[in-house]
Amino acid sequence: MAKYDANCIFCQIAQDKIKAYKIYEDDQVLAFLDTNPKSMGHALVIPKVHHDNFLTTPKDIMHKVYDVAQKIGQADMNGLGAVGINILTNCYEPAGQSVMHFHVHVIPRYLTGERYQIDMKENLDDKNLPAIVKVIKDNL
Ligand code: AMP
Ligand code: ZN
Repeated sequence: MAKYDANCIFCQIAQDKIKAYKIYEDDQVLAFLDTNPKSMGHALVIPKVHHDNFLTTPKDIMHKVYDVAQKIGQADMNGLGAVGINILTNCYEPAGQSVMHFHVHVIPRYLTGERYQIDMKENLDDKNLPAIVKVIKDNL
């Protein structure tokens, strides 16, 4: 399989051809904020090389992606004041996968009033994203 898929949006992000709000990068793994966030700090962790999903990714790369997801979840708890985190990955379109490049969602949860808030989209325009990137990076 080719290292990058020319038609894949996450491959383009991995190659810096499309801008993303990056929070973590090493030679194999990249993490950035989801542009359609389910909550403040909602991030995606991807391998830089193209693999379709969790089920088709070599174990060593899959483990590295989850190592970074763990770090970001910890940073969300420490830096953003999250009170819980959902870590999830969708495999194939019937399970909700819309971008066919393996990615792990890291979705912080917050206590707001008397409930755990998940829908904070209204607070998450582009102006806020650089500040969120900074808080997470400072807590990695
Ligand atoms: P899934 O439905 O599990 O495949 O998740 C794909 C996620 O990628 C969705 O939550 C989208 O909001 C997100 N997404 C799509 N394009 C971009 C992009 N250019 N930058 C950041 N997130 C994106
Ligand atoms: Zn790709």
